Amino acid sequence: MDDCVFCRIVAEEVPADIVARGSLTRAFRDTNPQAPVHVLVVPVEHVADVTEVGAQHGELLAEMVTTAHQVAAREGVAEGGYRLVLNVGDDAGNTVPHLHLHVLGGRRLTWPPG
Ligand code: AMP
Ligand code: ZN
Repeated sequence: MDDCVFCRIVAEEVPADIVARGSLTRAFRDTNPQAPVHVLVVPVEHVADVTEVGAQHGELLAEMVTTAHQVAAREGVAEGGYRLVLNVGDDAGNTVPHLHLHVLGGRRLTWPPG
């Protein structure tokens, strides 16, 4: 999608600090980090949100989760713990309409989230 910022990051038309490239996913640092480690894992193909996810996305979802864990391990937060977040809809504060898994770590995270 031409007007989707995350599609444009995947296409490397918009600069981003890309930390992992997989066949189905990219991972890059969030520009407004909420924790010392804050990385977004996104599908290469445009998937707007979880309402578009179906059984055909099994491999994609597996790669998103395994990539998130690899990033967490490489960033040194896997052992201490980290959080994976999918914000869905307005009440959750979802702002970018391209599916993205937040990887947050490097500090004690509060629960419940704000
Ligand atoms: P969400 O609120 O779940 O939709 O999260 C969107 C996230 O994308 C926010 O944490 C933003 O800081 C982040 N973000 C927006 N634009 C960019 C960008 N160009 N590069 C990296 N992160 C971005
Ligand atoms: Zn997109």
